[in-house]
Amino acid sequence: MTATRPTVEDRPGAPELSTTIRNPATGAVAGEVAWTDPGEVPAIAARLREAQREWEQRGPEGRAKVLARFAVWMGEHREEIERLLIAETGKSAVDAAQEVPLIAMITSYYVKTMAKALQPETRPASLPFLSMKKVTVHFRPRALVGIIAPWNYPVANALMDAIGALAAGCSVLLKPSERTPLTAEVLLRGWRESGGPDVLALAQGARAVSEAVIDVADFIQFTGSSATGVKVMERAARRLTPVSLELGGKDPMIVCEDADIALAANAAVWGAMFNAGQTCVSVERVYVLESVYDQFVEAVVQAVNNLEMGAGEGHHFGSLIDESQVAVTERHVADALAKGAKALTGGSRPAGSGNFYPATVLVDVDHSMLCMTEETFGPTLPIMKVPNVAEAVRLANDSPYGLSASVFSRDVDRARDIALQLDCGAVNINDVITNLMCTTAPMGGWKMSGIGARFGGADGMRKFCRQETVVAPRTSVGGGLTYYNGSLKMAKRTNKLLAKMALARPRKLLK
Ligand code: NAD
Repeated sequence: MTATRPTVEDRPGAPELSTTIRNPATGAVAGEVAWTDPGEVPAIAARLREAQREWEQRGPEGRAKVLARFAVWMGEHREEIERLLIAETGKSAVDAAQEVPLIAMITSYYVKTMAKALQPETRPASLPFLSMKKVTVHFRPRALVGIIAPWNYPVANALMDAIGALAAGCSVLLKPSERTPLTAEVLLRGWRESGGPDVLALAQGARAVSEAVIDVADFIQFTGSSATGVKVMERAARRLTPVSLELGGKDPMIVCEDADIALAANAAVWGAMFNAGQTCVSVERVYVLESVYDQFVEAVVQAVNNLEMGAGEGHHFGSLIDESQVAVTERHVADALAKGAKALTGGSRPAGSGNFYPATVLVDVDHSMLCMTEETFGPTLPIMKVPNVAEAVRLANDSPYGLSASVFSRDVDRARDIALQLDCGAVNINDVITNLMCTTAPMGGWKMSGIGARFGGADGMRKFCRQETVVAPRTSVGGGLTYYNGSLKMAKRTNKLLAKMALARPRKLLK
């Protein structure tokens, strides 16, 4: 039996008020979700805005305590969270177990650094003449941040940005994916049981609810497909609401002739199959130098043959989220096979129940095939032989996406040099996906993979703030030298002096 996903009729007055969510691996009931009427979203937003004022006034130290309690609550309720997570996604237990630790890690970093990150900054004068002013930049939270999330990581997608926004002093209206709405309900309960005030709320539904969230928020943090990201940005533009878009990818891996082939093969297999390939930064295509191609392919096939597919305990990766995701994977594989590729493992949907697709290694692939150009988001690993690194770089960059990439070479300096020729937001050397854990650095896509970035140390909180500059006098002298109540002669002299001082440095540089 194939599990079906809910369809949400989320226009106001829709007849469908709730839906049963089923496990895509087994069809078993995971739970029931009550959809939010889009017409209710402005009232939810008003409530959040009201509560946000007190939340902001608590200051970073006060907010850090609540965030720390929430992290500990998640640690203590990990089993319950992961059980539900598996029930609504069909993940393997080992994949599900990565989400709570990631959020705990992010929270741990923010509670340590938020006071400093949100402190006003004093800026130096650009010219000595201007040092009569004291310039400070203040980070003031946007009252209401709307977070619109996809389904592939129900805990991480819900909270990896929300924690930064809450730390900054914002309130958060979270719209989980309509395909995985249940885990967010438990997380909200956890926030409340941790003593969190009414600055976190859910809006459950699909497009119409998302649009209602965009229409009320002061900032939109969107994670999802590139096609939807474009629509979100268009909608947000109506009110000039800023957006941060974390979108799709087609991440390449480059394997040089001097790579540790066993390491590269294992990394490729995990990077492609982790979470059944449903990871924005999964390895979607591999370019291998001719001299090590056969060795690499052999190692990959061997590693894939050892994988166990199935939901829950004892399996490496689980089911796909629904029938449509299986259909995309099937379409990409069929297209490749029809154009001359070979499937060394998998290659067709297994008989039996659930939305499973086997780990599929494809060779003899090229850029005429969908599996090398469009985001598959399934457990496929297309491998292409290349004559040299320059060609690997050219092919890696031949994509509308630019999320992340990986390079394998025993010569790390060489790999870094290759990394800096790749047009994307992050490159992992001799590893895959790890940049996601390096939350002191920004994670963001180039090209159609997004705008803005998440994390990035202090920026992970400051992005949810408006910057306000306050210019104060250091002395009573110096103000009003060009005001109309002074003489025109004095104004002229001041302007002349200013120009002379501003030009001193450029003139010196040219001497
Ligand atoms: P999606 O774009 O279909 O949906 C994402 C969210 O947008 C959902 O909550 C959905 O209800 C909402 N939505 C749908 N139509 C909308 C509209 N017209 N206006 C406003 N909101 C709308 O994406 P998905 O299938 O849920 O997720 C998979 C995609 O997410 C993949 O492309 C994947 O690469 C990407 N992703 C990116 C990252 C990243 O950090 N870059 C992380 C995870 C997933």
